[in-house]
Amino acid sequence: MKQGIHPKYNSDGIVCTTCGTRWMIGTTRPNLRVEICANCHPFYTGEQRIVDTAGQVDRFMKRLSASQNRQAAIEKQRGSAKPQTPPKKSLLKELYGDDA
Ligand SMILES: [Zn+2]
Repeated sequence: MKQGIHPKYNSDGIVCTTCGTRWMIGTTRPNLRVEICANCHPFYTGEQRIVDTAGQVDRFMKRLSASQNRQAAIEKQRGSAKPQTPPKKSLLKELYGDDA
């Protein structure tokens, strides 16, 4: 092997940050990490679960609850500002009259 032209070979492996498994693979980059591996990916485990390493589910749930609160406030404001309109006739009754 010629000296000075080859990168340093690391055999300390790749670590999965979700399940902590260390995969013993030789690499030229030190401290490689992956977010998901065959040990914890739902396709391989057969479980229906969401692997949330970036906090995307938490962000979505926050946005959803904020949106629902805003919608509830708007509905409350509408309910107090306007009197309730009578319920609409059903489409069948509009088309065929009351005797249908
Ligand atoms: Zn994993």
